[in-house]
Amino acid sequence: MKNNEQAIRRIVIVGGGTAGWMSAAPLSQVFGTQPGGPANPVGCEIVLVESPEIGTVGVGEATLPSIRYYNDMLELDNADFMRKTQASFKLGIEFKDWGHVGNRFFHGFGGFGPPIVNRSSVAHWLRLNRAGGMPSYEEWSVATVMARRNRFALPEAGAPSAANAYSYAFHFDAGLYAAYLRDYAMARGVKREEGTIVDVSVRPGDGFVTAVTLADGRRIEGDLFIDCSGFRALLIEGVCKAGYHDWTHWLPCDSAQAVPCDKTLPLTPHTTSTAHSAGWQWRIPLQHRTGNGHVYCSGHISDDEASRVLMQNLDSAPQGDLRQLRFKTGLRKRIWEKNVVAVGLSSGFLEPLESTSLSLIIHGISALVELFPDKRCEPHLVDEYNRKMTRQYESIRDFIILHYKETRRDDSEFWRYCAAMPIPDTLAHQIESFRRNGRVVILDRDSFGEDSWLSLFLGLGMQPQGLDPLLKQVDEPTLREHFKRLHMAISRTVDGMPDHAAYLDRLVGVR
Ligand code: FAD
Repeated sequence: MKNNEQAIRRIVIVGGGTAGWMSAAPLSQVFGTQPGGPANPVGCEIVLVESPEIGTVGVGEATLPSIRYYNDMLELDNADFMRKTQASFKLGIEFKDWGHVGNRFFHGFGGFGPPIVNRSSVAHWLRLNRAGGMPSYEEWSVATVMARRNRFALPEAGAPSAANAYSYAFHFDAGLYAAYLRDYAMARGVKREEGTIVDVSVRPGDGFVTAVTLADGRRIEGDLFIDCSGFRALLIEGVCKAGYHDWTHWLPCDSAQAVPCDKTLPLTPHTTSTAHSAGWQWRIPLQHRTGNGHVYCSGHISDDEASRVLMQNLDSAPQGDLRQLRFKTGLRKRIWEKNVVAVGLSSGFLEPLESTSLSLIIHGISALVELFPDKRCEPHLVDEYNRKMTRQYESIRDFIILHYKETRRDDSEFWRYCAAMPIPDTLAHQIESFRRNGRVVILDRDSFGEDSWLSLFLGLGMQPQGLDPLLKQVDEPTLREHFKRLHMAISRTVDGMPDHAAYLDRLVGVR
């Protein structure tokens, strides 16, 4: 970084939840000290303030494959990280009772393998499927086949094959993960201040934040403030008044209850989401326990009834008390405003149906590093950041709404509302595109690619009316032979993989 007087000299991270420490760790890599290296080589300090009195939201156990790129960027040791965070592998999400009661489908990470001729394999599969006689699309997703059989092995290096045509993520204890990253960041020079912020100073004129003051009078000055204060949004809303797009008319769930229970076997390498009458329930298997939660719409079910539904759908005895959470789904109108960048729950909230929050934190911090400003926080950087992040939020929002909108459930007021509700134009176009000829529109490195959208469309029982007009007509017997061989290769590969729990035991040592 250029050593000039406009360079950022001090970054203050407000909040020590998952977002705070996930922000601190890569910033400490860019600006901090290497353990054993010279002190603060670029002259930019990083301070993180957290309040033990306020605490953290304490949930967030399921992730997307982007977490691996994040961990790799930090050069974390996989086995050590998994041991210390009680992690398990995740190949996707099993959906139960979504679409209609009794329905079961899987959103696996990675799909049909490389394109055939000029179009994706899925497009060719859709053509054969229309003609009939094809096994379900799930049987060509290696991740889905592995998950259905509780198998796991890391993808093999080398040419594309069934042994590497899948991706994976992790389930982990969010508190342990934040602590793991805290040790990482502090070893690289991040300073941690404990205390509750009671006052914020701004510069007269441009309104840039200059310092936060703690309850005991300590004052912490900075040039750039990363607001990781959770739903409180202390700086981005409390000071900058960024505003909020409320999306509850599209995603009406506003409450959650969470409770862990004793672990059970088999250790499934996937999250489970089961739809209920006014929301849905998650099941997340970790090494030491299973995380559970019921996300629901308080306008359609009471808290007491919601907890009764949650408790009667646990695998085993609950551990500890049930936690009640409230939220408002939506997005901050400006996620970066002046010299305040919101990362984590302070930037917006989408229910955890597709485990997207930590992935949005990764997007947020990566975009900040890419567009890193000087003290002026010039508008072109700020606007580009807001554009990128808004696009990410909106594409995930649409993906989540689709789960609710395309339902044939009419067993409750909640599902009748979801089936009838208006949807964003962007999602309406996506549905229309798929209905017409099985195509999916992907923009701007969206979080969910073609395979994900298709697993959802097909899993919910939707079928395209026509075919992709750019599909080159490979002759049908050749195509059928290709898919038959792929199917056999997937079965053979998965047959040779160990049980998930056995694989994990070998990797992390005795549990
Ligand atoms: P928090 O954890 O709330 O941390 C806020 C921090 O700010 C705390 O350290 C607090 O002390 C500090 N703070 C606040 N005010 C002050 C103050 N005045 N002074 C000093 N410090 C202050 N995400 C996923 O990716 N996967 C999931 O499966 C998932 N499940 C979820 C389930 C539910 C029900 C909910 C609500 C969320 C879920 N999430 C999930 C989201 C995930 O939990 C969050 O994105 C993640 O924990 C980040 O939270 P955070 O750090 O922004 O906020």
